[in-house]
Amino acid sequence: MTSIKNYKIVTLGSHTALQILKGAKDEGFATICVCEKGRVRPYKSFPVADQIIEIDSFKDFFKIEQSLIDQNAIIIPHGSFVAYLGPDKVKNIKAMHYGTKGILEWEADRTKSRKWLLDAGIKLPKIFKTPEEIDRPVIIKFHGARGGKGYFLANTPKEFHERYKAYKDVEGHSDYVIQEYIVGVPVYIHYFYSRLTGELELMSFDKRYESNADSIGRVAAKDQVDVGIRTTYTITGNVPIVLRESLLPYVFEIGESVVKTSQTLKGAEGGLFGPFCIEGVFDPELNYFVFEISARIVAGTNLYTDGSPYTWLRYNEPMSTGRRIARDIKMAIESNQIEKVLG
Ligand code: AMP
Ligand code: AMP
Repeated sequence: MTSIKNYKIVTLGSHTALQILKGAKDEGFATICVCEKGRVRPYKSFPVADQIIEIDSFKDFFKIEQSLIDQNAIIIPHGSFVAYLGPDKVKNIKAMHYGTKGILEWEADRTKSRKWLLDAGIKLPKIFKTPEEIDRPVIIKFHGARGGKGYFLANTPKEFHERYKAYKDVEGHSDYVIQEYIVGVPVYIHYFYSRLTGELELMSFDKRYESNADSIGRVAAKDQVDVGIRTTYTITGNVPIVLRESLLPYVFEIGESVVKTSQTLKGAEGGLFGPFCIEGVFDPELNYFVFEISARIVAGTNLYTDGSPYTWLRYNEPMSTGRRIARDIKMAIESNQIEKVLG
């Protein structure tokens, strides 16, 4: 049996690093955290990293990549990888990488991810090709907008043009999508799919805590209008939720369909595996409209470093998504199938 002692687990110090490294240590791996200078404190205070490598900027990641290769370190990608390196650069990673790299391009490109979700039979908010077609509440999202920052709402073509003016000087302002705004409650579903077991697991749920969307209800409608407050969606944190149990069969169904469809995506051979998240809104008729998919660990899982109500049902021991990743890798190493967790 090959031993996990020959391997290390590494990730970038942001997003879900604490949880990933803690989970790896719990499974017996040595861990490395790659940090930006000046942002090391949490990774020293919480004893999850056996080794900290400091770089000036995450963009310098490739300068230290060889040392990771020399140490037989397996990279666990998370939201900051794609945000700071970009899907193109992630593709060039030569060190061992957990997950199918090609899938990140399907996730990052709104047109591609829409096709993937539609093929999986999932309901999506309507897209308006031009502002002139707007006939209901819509949300305008700029391409590459990070964590909901810079989105705005409109009801009519006139309102769109008025509000859009404020973005005219912003870089990339002409690259946006106009999406039907679904009134309902946001629910982010955290899944895990293992190629070793061939099984889809439901890990947990969260909803996002966004500024100022989640505080606007504290201000009377009249004051909102008088003071001219506009809704914004800058992600700041996450809030735990559990779902009505009768919705769980549907949750499994769409998760399974997304995994199955991913196996047909061009350039993402091998399909989706590991942690992923479907992000959407339940309307009052309990229709679930999905506006995004993340093909990697999402930060909402940070709520459950000690496990979620659902992982408790399955594992009877603390099982975070970070730890589940490490267990997948451990199972692969110990059964000589490491290629099944790398991509
Ligand atoms: P950060 O390293 O915090 O800048 O995060 C990288 C990217 O991950 C951000 O651009 C966000 O889109 C996303 N992200 C970070 N934290 C969260 C969170 N708590 N919930 C949802 N998305 C997040
Ligand atoms: P996203 O960056 O696509 O995950 O969206 C950020 C936030 O905007 C979400 O957490 C929701 O609060 C909100 N949002 C995005 N798209 C929609 C939509 N079509 N309908 C309602 N709310 C949305």
